Amino acid sequence: MTGELENEALQFVRDLIRIDSVNTGVADTIGDGETRAARYVRERLAEVGIDSELIEPTPGRGSLVARLQGSDPDAGALLVHAHLDVVPVAKDDWTHPPFGAEIHDGYLYGRGAVDMKDFAGTILAVARHYAREGIVPRRDLVFAFLADEESGGVWGADWLVRHRPDLFDGVTEALSEVGGFSVPLDVDQGSAGGGRRAYLVATTEKGVAGATLVARGRAGHGSRPTGDTAVVRLARAVAAIGSHRFPVQRTAALEGFLREFGAARGLAFTETSLEEDLATLGFVDTIVGASLRNTVTPTVLRGGEKVNVIPAEASALLDIRLLPGQDDALRSELRELVGDDADVVEGRWWSATEAPADAALLAVLQAAVSAEDDSGVVVPYLLPASTDNKHFARLGIHGYGFVPLRVDPDFDVFAQFHAADERVPVSALYFCARVTERILRSA
Ligand SMILES: [Zn+2]
Repeated sequence: MTGELENEALQFVRDLIRIDSVNTGVADTIGDGETRAARYVRERLAEVGIDSELIEPTPGRGSLVARLQGSDPDAGALLVHAHLDVVPVAKDDWTHPPFGAEIHDGYLYGRGAVDMKDFAGTILAVARHYAREGIVPRRDLVFAFLADEESGGVWGADWLVRHRPDLFDGVTEALSEVGGFSVPLDVDQGSAGGGRRAYLVATTEKGVAGATLVARGRAGHGSRPTGDTAVVRLARAVAAIGSHRFPVQRTAALEGFLREFGAARGLAFTETSLEEDLATLGFVDTIVGASLRNTVTPTVLRGGEKVNVIPAEASALLDIRLLPGQDDALRSELRELVGDDADVVEGRWWSATEAPADAALLAVLQAAVSAEDDSGVVVPYLLPASTDNKHFARLGIHGYGFVPLRVDPDFDVFAQFHAADERVPVSALYFCARVTERILRSA
């Protein structure tokens, strides 16, 4: 049985998917989809008497913020945020139209179905539900619908934190992507779904940084090699980095995850068995496996223009993903790896964000899940990617990734992100609406 809350959530998610708000990352190819989506949300809020502010730092790139007053003036405000942009689609790879929001076999298909118009539509429905029913949440709630998350939040969260921090006055914690979906906790899930489900909450996010390796040497004619040329030096440095494995770091989020899954699956996760044990978790390993260590990945090579000319300089771009507190250790490890072969020039650098894995908010998440899934267990994990939470962290806000979706044991929500045929079970959206309503009311 579904009520108005769930029905509206589904309707809003579908309407938002139908507003094409693709963020290509290239300014002149981005339309006004984010602003149109923000206006859509503003109108739905206005219908129930909720004021909001549309902020459009540059045409078409709109974000929307609204605040609901809570009953406890001493409680810190809770920010609930969802980005309105989506990543591009390769249309031919889709079975159903990516902006059609069609429902087939119980699944809603469309770009943004899990990333993350599902949550945008859900929190909009929850805000309207409170207004309709006269429900006053305990904490002040700040709802933010944001542009540009998929290209670093330059026109969205980053811009708002720089220019409009007043919108987030009094906010202590935030709730958003990526987490909240269920994964099998017990080995035997049974056909009747007898096994328990873990609902993963991201308490930590890896940092993301970039650096350029620059190698130099003597330029010359290709017929007279100069020995150690820029290209050879660069190749040596890139190979050293590419073949290096950084050590495993047992973060608080990882320990929380290992504790729950170790107990449920009878796995020890010792220093030597860790990766082997994780591999037995199936697709869950693809999420957690990437959260064990820092990674540095060479992605772009530049050097030379012509086959018979030895260039004076060659360079490579590095994609760096960092665990909490690892910035300096990684910097020195990197310098050691490349030695004299190249200089390391740092680019943009966002450190990892870490929120307490034992915060009172986690008990609220657990209670809200338990009300709908009595054997569901909320389990912390470390998100091996990065979200708008990194921007809000600059305001001292602790961010958590939790968009509650109860799904079948073999449905990998994480694999839907940025994929063709992105989809979400309609029943999971209803679940999301009910659980999120409880969380935001009592948080
Ligand atoms: Zn996202």
